[in-house]
Amino acid sequence: MFENELKVGLEAVDKAMIISRKIQKALTAGDKLDKSDRSPVTIADFASQAVICSILNNSFPDIPIVGEEDSTDLKKPENSEVLNNINNFLKNEKDMFGILYEQDILKSIDLGNGKPNNNIFWTLDPIDGTKGFLRGEQYAVALALIKNGKVALGISGCPNLDIEGEAGNEGFIFYAVRNRGSYKINCQTEKTEVIAVTDHLDKSQMRFVQSYESGHGDLELQIEIAEKLEIGEPPVQLDSQVKYGIVASGNAEIYLRIPNPKSPDYKEKIWDHAAGSIIVEEAGGIVTDIKGRSLDFSLGSTLEGNTGILATTSGLQKEILEIISNS
Ligand code: AMP
Ligand code: MG
Repeated sequence: MFENELKVGLEAVDKAMIISRKIQKALTAGDKLDKSDRSPVTIADFASQAVICSILNNSFPDIPIVGEEDSTDLKKPENSEVLNNINNFLKNEKDMFGILYEQDILKSIDLGNGKPNNNIFWTLDPIDGTKGFLRGEQYAVALALIKNGKVALGISGCPNLDIEGEAGNEGFIFYAVRNRGSYKINCQTEKTEVIAVTDHLDKSQMRFVQSYESGHGDLELQIEIAEKLEIGEPPVQLDSQVKYGIVASGNAEIYLRIPNPKSPDYKEKIWDHAAGSIIVEEAGGIVTDIKGRSLDFSLGSTLEGNTGILATTSGLQKEILEIISNS
C-alpha cells in the first residue's frame, strides 16, 4: 500500500532537507519575511514547498497538496529581495534542482494550495518550526498523506537531529505507513531501522518533551504536570515535529501540548501533526488530544475537533490524562 507515494515522498523530503541545510548555514536578513499573522517565513520554507510540490505533482497530478505556505507575501514589492534570494539560491544549485530552476517558483509554491477533501490529499509543512530554524536549532520537513480523513503515510525529515552522535550533521528521516510500522533513516549512514516507543521504563527514567516556544503551549502547566507525574527530569524544549520522532524512537515517553491560555482560540494545523502522529502510532505509541480523543484529520486544515496534543505510550496515557483533567 502506498509504496510509490512513500518512495516519491521520501525523495521529495530528502531534496528539501538538502536545501534547508544549505540555507540554514548561510542565512541573511534578506532571507526572511514576516507573514500577515506576524509569524516568520524564510526562503527555505518557500524553496522547500516549491521543490516538494513540484516532485509530488509530477508523479501524482491528481492528488491535491495542502501546504502551509503560499506566494501572496512573496509577490509584494517590499519582499522582492526575498524572492530574488530564492531565485538566486536555485540558480546556484541548478545542477541539483534543474527542473525547478526552469519553472516559475511562485507557481511551484502554489501547487501546495490545494483544499482538504474526504478522499485523498497530501499535507505539507515545508519547514515546521521556522523559529527553531532561524535560531539554528531543530525543525522538520513534514509531509503526510491523508486518505478518507485518516493519516495513511507520514514522513518527517529532521536535518538537525542527532541522537547520541549517530547521524553527524545529517540528521534523520522518520516515516510510517499505516499498519506497516515506523522507521528511521540515518541520513549519514543511509541505514534504515524499525523504531518503537519505550514502554518499560520506571517513572524516574521517563523523559518529557515540549515546545521551545512559550507562545505555543502552556509550558508552566506542562512543567507542573511533569512534576505531578514524578518523572526524573524536567521537560526538554524542542521545536517542531522532531518531538514526535523522539517519542517514536524511544528517546522520550511524553510529548504534551496544552493550549496557551493567551491564544485560547488557536486551532492546531493538520500539517503540524499529521506526519508526526502516524510515526508515533506505528511505533506502538498513542496520540490523542488532552481529553483522550483521537485526532480528527477530516475537518479541514485544522484539528477543529481537538484540544491540545498528548503523544505517549499506552502504559502512561491514562494517568497523564487524569492528571491533566484534574489540573
Ligand atoms: P512547536 O515547535 O512544536 O511549537 O511547533 C511549531 C508550530 O506551532 C508552528 O508550525 C505553528 O504552526 C504552531 N503554532 C503557532 N502558534 C501556536 C499557538 N498559539 N499554539 C500552538 N501552536 C502554535
Ligand atoms: Mg509548522
